[in-house]
Amino acid sequence: MTHVRRQLAAVTAALALTATSGAMASPAFADPRETDKKATATGYGGAVSTVDPEASAAAIDVLRKGGNAADAAVAAAATLGVTEPYSAGIGGGGYFVFYDAKTQQVGTIDGRETAPAGITQDAFINPADPEGKPYRFTPELVTSGVSVGVPGTPATWERALERWGTMNLRETLKPAIKVADKGFVVDETFRQQTLDNEVRFDAFTSTRDLFLPGGDAPAVGSVFKNPELADTYRQLAKEGTDAFYGGPLAEEIVKTVQAPPKTATTELPVPVGSMTVQDLANYKVLDQAPTKVEYRGYDVYGMAPSSSGGTTVGESLNILENYDLKGMKPVDALHHYIEASSLAFADRGAYVGDPAFVNVPTQTLLNPVFAKERSCEISPTTAATKPVAPGDLKTFDGACPAAVAPLAKDTDTENISTTNLTVADKWGNVVEYTLTIEQTGGSGIVVPGRGFLLNNELTDFSTVYDPKDPNRIEPNKRPRSSMSPTIILKDEKPFLALGSPGGSTIITTVLQTILNRVDLGMTVSEALAAPRAAPRNGATISSEPAFIDAYGPALEPLGHDLVPAGDAFTSAAEIGAATAIEFNPDGSLTAAAEPDRRGGGSAMVVKPAKPGR
Ligand code: GLU
Repeated sequence: MTHVRRQLAAVTAALALTATSGAMASPAFADPRETDKKATATGYGGAVSTVDPEASAAAIDVLRKGGNAADAAVAAAATLGVTEPYSAGIGGGGYFVFYDAKTQQVGTIDGRETAPAGITQDAFINPADPEGKPYRFTPELVTSGVSVGVPGTPATWERALERWGTMNLRETLKPAIKVADKGFVVDETFRQQTLDNEVRFDAFTSTRDLFLPGGDAPAVGSVFKNPELADTYRQLAKEGTDAFYGGPLAEEIVKTVQAPPKTATTELPVPVGSMTVQDLANYKVLDQAPTKVEYRGYDVYGMAPSSSGGTTVGESLNILENYDLKGMKPVDALHHYIEASSLAFADRGAYVGDPAFVNVPTQTLLNPVFAKERSCEISPTTAATKPVAPGDLKTFDGACPAAVAPLAKDTDTENISTTNLTVADKWGNVVEYTLTIEQTGGSGIVVPGRGFLLNNELTDFSTVYDPKDPNRIEPNKRPRSSMSPTIILKDEKPFLALGSPGGSTIITTVLQTILNRVDLGMTVSEALAAPRAAPRNGATISSEPAFIDAYGPALEPLGHDLVPAGDAFTSAAEIGAATAIEFNPDGSLTAAAEPDRRGGGSAMVVKPAKPGR
């Protein structure tokens, strides 16, 4: 989860006494950048929005030094690996989307974690269960070696810089190394996230030593340093990612997955994984064409499978293109949003998986004629009974089908974690990048001596093996993601870039924010701040309390069952933590972050005022 918000560690003589890793009480030093922290910033020369002022500052520093959006995005992501270690880092994966101002083309990198070659279809079955049932999702599966996918994040950074950047890994890792060495001031959220993970973190010697120094979560106001991560970054800066996908570090990762460093006292079972050094050596990021749909005259580019983000946001928009949302009362527009999203989620569940393993009908899912036919299922006045069935891919012709298909299964075990960032530079290049280690704290396992957590991304596979399920577990396969980094162009020029964390609610957050901005007349900041609902084709709709208060009385009579958001892992009833940049007609940029969710994000611009003013 990306709700970690921290301040720069004030570097003082007092803090020089701080322990090298972990926490120590210190006076609350105000970081000048912290007092500047804003959810909205408008200006010129480049802009950034992340969940964290350190990461945003890292991107701005790189942009000021003449780096471009790809350089700045890697710098911000690496810094998030320090300040948001429970959400993202080199132990995870993600999806990087780039708009190249010169060519006016959008390209993407799929840096998703992959299953090891040795994984078996019964990897999630508990061998000790007499009925051959799967491990419980929590705590067994989420805190395990078996759920660790081969990380894609270091290779994503390297590829993004090689393809689009102007700097190398050494230069772009500098700001993150500085923060890891000097530390950052722990805030409530970081402490709370640590406490939420206490049992898991206490299960591994390496994690306990790093994140529970002295047996407790770092105190609010203390300085948290991660010199081991700084050293790991330094090694990558010097040797490149070969030092991650081979050599001693690769061996250490493999050892950690195959024999997690359990503490003597833990009662967690911690199923082991099968990852080998060969799996790491074989890892490849993929250059992919983006998904594209047209919506209200805009071109909306997203992430193709292995993420379901591009197809599901895209199909929903195609369905909604059939309706004049602008001319509707907001509540009617929201009814259509809920129904369109539910239909697209039904198709996501039935048809989307890793295209290297299953035949994903991406073109059909993004075909406006298919969407027109799907829109037949929407009644203007009544909510369809959920779950709705997936569409028929073979016979669609845009005409309404005579009979309603049987209902689809309704399962969604995705966790909520991750972080997102948006960067634009003075040349007009744009990055939208979502990266993750899956749930908050990932697998809970730190690679000993290396300062970073391993992901538990393979829990994004369906837990129960079904040969007809496109997201079934298979060797070397990427689990289906919901990450939806999105760049929207108007006449080949950027209009809006946005993304969010939040598991499968990523899709609905991105979709709803687009509708808020494009159809419902909100500014980009209002669109991000507006209360959210996450319709994912379930019997109930997970919604923020403010959404229920505002729209429940009008939506519930239509048959929508709105329930407060939040789950076993999160106390906050909030959905997502979006970041965005809008490209204004006068040439200025508006960076937007969350004003409140997850403690608020950080929007910055290179030059707050027009040059020469
Ligand atoms: N594992 C999720 C996905 O790939 C992201 C994690 C999250 O945001 O909760 O879709």
